[in-house]
Amino acid sequence: MVVLEPISDNVVVDTTTQRTTRSCVLGGITLGDYSIAIESGHALDVGAALRKELEAISKAPTKYLFLSHTHNDHRDGRDAFKDATLIASQRCLDNMPQRIRLTKWSKEAFDETFTLTTDEGTVEFHHTGGHSVGHSIAYSPTEKILFGCDLFIVGSVNFGLPFMGFYQNKPKRTGDPEAYLAAYRKFLTMDLEVIVPGHGDIVHDPQPYLKEQITFLEDLKAFIITAIEEGRSLEEIELPRLGPIEQAYKTAESRSKRAMNLRFLENYLKHLKTSFYNYYIRER
Ligand SMILES: [Zn+2]
Repeated sequence: MVVLEPISDNVVVDTTTQRTTRSCVLGGITLGDYSIAIESGHALDVGAALRKELEAISKAPTKYLFLSHTHNDHRDGRDAFKDATLIASQRCLDNMPQRIRLTKWSKEAFDETFTLTTDEGTVEFHHTGGHSVGHSIAYSPTEKILFGCDLFIVGSVNFGLPFMGFYQNKPKRTGDPEAYLAAYRKFLTMDLEVIVPGHGDIVHDPQPYLKEQITFLEDLKAFIITAIEEGRSLEEIELPRLGPIEQAYKTAESRSKRAMNLRFLENYLKHLKTSFYNYYIRER
């Protein structure tokens, strides 16, 4: 099920489980004596398989589980790591659904950043927000690898478009494009060779990819702000066929279940439009 591939000396990634399940991309970072599991997948058997594989490859115990945010495709394999320490932002923990009881876990809850360092290297965890409240990333400056989690949906998975539809439950809110932009700009200043996304394909050329994403979000922002200033309602607005959206239509049209894929894409774009609209109309 889970197939961890090394992408550097101390970092492994699984991009296969997501192709056949609802799971996110999974990973692991080893710092000599111990490993950190990155996300836990959408189900207990996925979390268990991740842990087994990670410990077989690293020959080290899994001391930590990092959860980037509250969504179930990332968190629902967590019980395979009950004896590990949970690393998550405080805002992520505060926004877990009530039925998700994490009272018995030992935790490293952080506001903005948390860092682990051993002789073998360093891993930093940064709160970003954007995709969902409390969303965080993991970054290894030693390996120059960023686990960008759900700030990155890359390639053909979900058409490679950002998703900010389910930011927060109580009260219900959509995401924060400005937090995406701030995070992407921060990533541009980091020493970075690889970005591991929350869903989709690994990015081996981070700088041009980040610049493209910034341009895309800036163009969407400008379009939506103009539409709001012209007094158009959410229903009246149709997103322009910007590069990544045009590419998404091409992908949908080339797939076998064309009509179903186009419906899925339309729904996805509706979430994207609504997220931008809700955010920038609040600011007016
Ligand atoms: Zn996800």
